[in-house]
Amino acid sequence: MTFTARALLQKIATDSGISYRDIAQRVNDEMTEGKGLQDSIRAIVQEQGLDPDTYRLSATKIVAEAKRILREDYTQTLMISAVLGQMVEGPEKDRFPVPAFLAFLEVLAFVDDARRDTKSETSQDIDEHATRMIELMTTLVSVVCKWSKDGVVGVADDCPTSLQELAMTVFRKIKLLQSGLWTCISCGNIVSAKETNSLMCLECNAKIDESEPVRPKRRGRERARTGYGQADLGDEIE
Ligand SMILES: [Zn+2]
Repeated sequence: MTFTARALLQKIATDSGISYRDIAQRVNDEMTEGKGLQDSIRAIVQEQGLDPDTYRLSATKIVAEAKRILREDYTQTLMISAVLGQMVEGPEKDRFPVPAFLAFLEVLAFVDDARRDTKSETSQDIDEHATRMIELMTTLVSVVCKWSKDGVVGVADDCPTSLQELAMTVFRKIKLLQSGLWTCISCGNIVSAKETNSLMCLECNAKIDESEPVRPKRRGRERARTGYGQADLGDEIE
């Protein structure tokens, strides 16, 4: 089972003989024009005479895989969240796309039974899991949301019923962000995007500062991430 767009495009590259780079470029171009990820992939696969049904991504299976990782270990989940939070705020180049981060928060909200401290995580473990989560969530928003050159513009026509609420929440929060508002990731209050710190309202951020949370070190990025449906939202988060 292929869970991520990257893995799926790699499979298509192997099966069709077209380079991964060319396929990724075409998919990105088509998504910028408002075509869905699955539709773009289907068109390429059909042109190559391959069976489109074997090159599908299942949004519900992507979510199940993400939940599986997040349930593995509580500390690990906290660290993954911290890494992704730093990346979404980070410099443009290696930024984790905001829609994918919003989807991550939605998935995370349904994981409340992570095991406590069953193992000690190495920074490499955290790195690998964070990278995996980034790919899963970037793929997920590409599949469940409707895209145009302006980014997320709604819920995808073929979004599974069980994930329509998630896609709608991502869309709603993106709209808020485009009008300069951010939903605090801690208390959920809507505040001015300029009055935030670490993706939280100033009040929540002040509380966290007092309690000194675990913050994994930033690492250098060795792997280039291709942004399927990555929206350029400008500098919406301070
Ligand atoms: Zn808050």
